[in-house]
Amino acid sequence: MGSRPGHNRCNMLGLMLCLLAGVTWAGCAPTVKKAEEWLTPSVKSEKEMGREFAQEAAKKLSLVEDPDILEYVAHIGAPIVEAAQPMTYRFRFHVVKSPTLNAFAVPGGHIYLYSGLLLKARHPGEIAGVIAHELAHVKHRHTAQMIGKGTLVNLATLAAILISRGEPAVTAGAAGAGMAMQLSFTREFEQEADRYGLFYLYQAGYDPNGLLDFFEMMMREQRFSISRIPPYLLTHPLSTERMAQIESLVQIHRLQVTQPRELADFHRFQALLQAEVAGATQVIPLFQQRVEENQVDAKAWHQLGLVYLRYGWVKESLQALSRSLELDPTLASAWADLAMLQARMGRWEEAQALFQKALELRPEHGPFLAKMGEALVQKGSPSEALQFLDRALAADPLLIRAHEMRARAKKDLGDDGGFHEDMASFHEKMDRTVEALKHFRLAMKAYGEKSPKGEEMQRRIEQLKAS
Ligand SMILES: [Zn+2]
Repeated sequence: MGSRPGHNRCNMLGLMLCLLAGVTWAGCAPTVKKAEEWLTPSVKSEKEMGREFAQEAAKKLSLVEDPDILEYVAHIGAPIVEAAQPMTYRFRFHVVKSPTLNAFAVPGGHIYLYSGLLLKARHPGEIAGVIAHELAHVKHRHTAQMIGKGTLVNLATLAAILISRGEPAVTAGAAGAGMAMQLSFTREFEQEADRYGLFYLYQAGYDPNGLLDFFEMMMREQRFSISRIPPYLLTHPLSTERMAQIESLVQIHRLQVTQPRELADFHRFQALLQAEVAGATQVIPLFQQRVEENQVDAKAWHQLGLVYLRYGWVKESLQALSRSLELDPTLASAWADLAMLQARMGRWEEAQALFQKALELRPEHGPFLAKMGEALVQKGSPSEALQFLDRALAADPLLIRAHEMRARAKKDLGDDGGFHEDMASFHEKMDRTVEALKHFRLAMKAYGEKSPKGEEMQRRIEQLKAS
C-alpha cells in the first residue's frame, strides 16, 4: 500500500485553496468542522481504500480459502447486513488463519475475523455479535470520521498496523499495545457501535445477548492469561460499565428474542476450520479426545469423521460418520457428508440414497443440493448435476462452491458463456475482483456483447467495479 489514496490529494488541495483565500471566502471558512469534512474520505474513497486494503491483506495475511468455511461465515453475517439496510457498502467476510482472538472492519465493507475467535465462540450468536458491532463501525463510517478528525493519518497507516497486528511477534509488548491503541475508536464511536450492533442483531433475529456472551468470554480469556490480552480487547476495552450499558439497552428497548435465529451445523463449521488452520498431528488427537470424553456425543463423532476425511483417513472417517448417525439419525449434515464420502469412493447408489436422507430431513437445503451436484459433476453427469446446482443456488444465493461446480458442468456441456459467468460469480464471492472481472469479460464475449446476456455481463462488471 505504497501510494496515498487519491482523495487525500484532492481534499488537501481544496483545504489549501481555502486557507490561501482566507476567511473572506464566504462558504469556505476554514473552521474546524469544514476542515474535518474535507479530510473525511468520501464513500467512493472508502470503497477504494477497502479494495486496496483487501488486496494487500490477501498478500500479507494468511486467509482461509475453503469456500465451505467462508460460506458459513457469510450465512452468519447476511441477516445482519440485511437488518442494517439501507446500506451503501457490499459486505465481504474474510477469515484470517491465526489463533489470536481478534476481528476488525475496514472501510468499504470488509470484515476480518480471526480463526482463534471463531473457534473460541460457543454458538453462532457470539460471532453474530462481533459482526454486528464491526458492521456498525463501517456503516456509521467511524474510520472515515477518525481520518477526518486527524486521529488516523490515512488508510496506509491503518493497513500497516492492522496487518501487523495479527502477528504475535509484532504485537507482543508495549509497542504492539501502543499501535493497537492508536487504532482504537473513540469511546463515543464504541458506544455507537454497541448500540447499533444490538439493534441489528435484534432485527436479524439473533439474541442480542450474543454480544454480551462474547464479551464475557473475552473477559474470561483475559483473566486466564493476564500476559496475553486478546488483541480485540486492546482496541475494545471492556469495563463493567460498558457491559452494564449493553445490558440496560437490551432491557430498556425490550430486545429479547423469544426464538433466536438458529444456524445449524456450527460443530461442523468449527471442525472444518480447525482442520484448516492446524495439522493432522494436532487436530486428530483433539477430536479423538472429545469423543473419548463423551462416547455418545453424535456431533463429536461427526467432527471426528470430518477431520479424518480431511486428512484422507477414509476407513476411519466412514466409521466415525456412521457412529454419529447411529447416535443421532436426525443429524442431516452427517448424512450428506457420508454421502459425499461414498460418492468419492465410487459407490454412487449408496451416495444417492444418503443424499435423499439428508434432503428428507431438510428439504431443498441449498448446501445439500450443492453437494449432490458436486458429486454428479465428479461422476461425469453434467446435465443431472446442473439441475441440482440450479436448485441449490435458487434456494441459497450465498453458496460459493456451487458456482465453481456449475461452471464445470457448463464447460462439460460446451456452454462457454455459462462457464465464464459462473466462474466470475465464484471469484466475486471469494472477493477476487481481478479474476472475476476477467471471467465477466470472457462471458460477455462468449454471449455476444449486444445479446441480452452480454449486456447483463456489462452491468455486472460496472456493479463490481463500483462496489
Ligand atoms: Zn468497536
